This record gives sequence, C-alpha cells and structure tokens, in this order.
Amino acid sequence: MTRHVLILGGTTEARALASSLTADPALRVTSSLAGRVAEPRLPEGEVRIGGFGGPDALRRWLTEHAVDALIDATHPFAAAISSHAAQAAASAGVPLLAVRRPGWTAGPGDRWHPADSLVQAAAMLPDLGRRIFLTTGRTGLAAFAGTTGAWFLIRSVDAPRPPLPEPSEVLLARGPFTLEGEAELLRRHRVDVLVTKDSGGPATAAKLTAAREAGVPVVVVRRPPVPEGVPVAATPGEAVAWLRAGPVQPRDGISPGHRRVCGAAGRCP
Ligand code: NAP
Repeated sequence: MTRHVLILGGTTEARALASSLTADPALRVTSSLAGRVAEPRLPEGEVRIGGFGGPDALRRWLTEHAVDALIDATHPFAAAISSHAAQAAASAGVPLLAVRRPGWTAGPGDRWHPADSLVQAAAMLPDLGRRIFLTTGRTGLAAFAGTTGAWFLIRSVDAPRPPLPEPSEVLLARGPFTLEGEAELLRRHRVDVLVTKDSGGPATAAKLTAAREAGVPVVVVRRPPVPEGVPVAATPGEAVAWLRAGPVQPRDGISPGHRRVCGAAGRCP
C-alpha cells in the first residue's frame, strides 16, 4: 500500500528529501511551499503552494489527504509553520519529524556576537560598526529601521519588505555564494559588521569565512527551538531512515507540547 508523505519545504534539505523519496514507488510524496518566493526552486514530486490557514486547517489537510507521515523540513527560522505542524500532527495522530541542518559554530579568529532576536541584533550594532551587511532575509527588517548613524547593505532573494533601515542599498541575490565573491562584496562596500541568522549549511557559509579573514565582527541571531517533543533529523538521509523504520503514531490524549518521541526504532517509551 502506498504511504503518503507530506514535506513542509522551502529548503535545500526539503528538495533533496523529495528527490530521494519520489524514487520509492511505495511512497506518494507531496511537498508544500509557502509561496513567498516569486520563482521558487520546485522539488520533485507533487507540489502544493500557499499557507494552509493555521494549525486546524493543516490538521484537516492531513486528514483529508490521508497523510501517513509529516516531515517539517522548513528553514530553522520558520517557527510559525513548525509550531503549526507540531499541533496539527499531534491532533491528527500523524507521526512528525523535523529536519534541521546543524547550526554554524565559531572557529579560531571568528568575532561572533550572539543575539536572541533581530531586535537584540539591532541594539548591538552601534558598538560594533557603521557599515552593516544585513543577510537576515527579506522580512523582519523593521527591527533595524530605528538604527541611526549607519549605512546598510541588505541582501535578499526577493525585494525586502519595508520599513527598511536608511540609508541602505538592496542587493537581490540567491546563494550559493563563493568565498571570493563574499570577500569582494565586503571590500567593495567597506562592510564593518555582518548580521546573519544561524541558518547553517554550506550555501551561505562563505560570508562567515570572508568576515573572519577580513576581521569583521558578525552578529549571529540564535535559532528558535524546535517544538517540544518533535524528533529531529540532521540530514535528509536521517529522515529517509526514520520513514523506513515506520514511525509509530502518537498515542491519543498527548498534548501537542508534550508529544512522546517514538524514535526511529518505532516504539513509544
Ligand atoms: P513562518 O513564519 O514559520 O510561517 C508563516 C506562515 O507561512 C505559516 O503560518 C504558514 O501559513 C505559511 N507557511 C510557511 N511555510 C510553509 C510551507 N512550507 N508550506 C505551506 N505554508 C507555509 O515561515 P517563514 O519564515 O515566513 O518562511 C516561509 C517559507 O520560507 C518556509 O517554507 C521556509 O522553509 C522558507 N524559508 C524561510 C527562511 C527564513 O529565514 N525564515 C529562509 C529560507 C527559506 P498558514 O498558517 O496559513 O498555514
């Protein structure tokens, strides 16, 4: 019997996972994209685009489309959809796995300043520099709009959402980025602070090496936590192994915040 897997996507890992799973004739694979990016890189297999309309609507989608397993392979900072997935999976009784690429770690020579939020990152800037390279994405930039006495280079895939800090220059670009390119960008714009989320992964890591080599401090915004009780895979390969192991359904009556982790062995403790 075919098992239906829903992948919440929008990441390299989600696309890699969809490619692996569509090769398995025992699986029906649907990927879900938020529809934020104008020209998304489409995964293999079936694709649906757009928000579900909240956790209850996602739960109905899981039930109506007879989803057997849900894999949250969204970006580490997409906290709302991850929370909705945890609630919907628990109430629909569908096994859920989160795929999260490991975060970046500072090495010798790095000058990293951790921040808990974009607002906290903005508050740290006056002590660090005046020519700021913002790579935190197209949303949330209002956090920097009140910063005075600084110039911003804002890089995002699609046009950033106002309000933006001023004065600023917008650079529309999609990774992967090379070390040579990132080093040249820092030099050309005389960047003296880099701001990034701890997205992890190789596609956008070159900016960190370029910053280290140029002695540029980096404000690194920490990740939100994965919803409590949701098992986590670090790679698409681990997610494939979890599916092959046949995850057990969560027991009835367990609240979304305290779901049991049944684990890859397929048994609840
Ligand atoms: P978010 O704040 O967690 O989600 C906001 C709303 O967007 C959700 O409530 C949901 O709408 C909808 N949504 C998000 N991901 C979805 C998906 N895969 N399929 C269907 N609906 C989805 O998410 P976000 O940070 O805006 O990110 C949106 C998408 O961009 C995600 O797929 C994420 O993987 C990708 N992305 C995000 C970042 C980032 O830095 N946040 C970076 C790269 C890629 P409803 O409540 O209506 O269901």
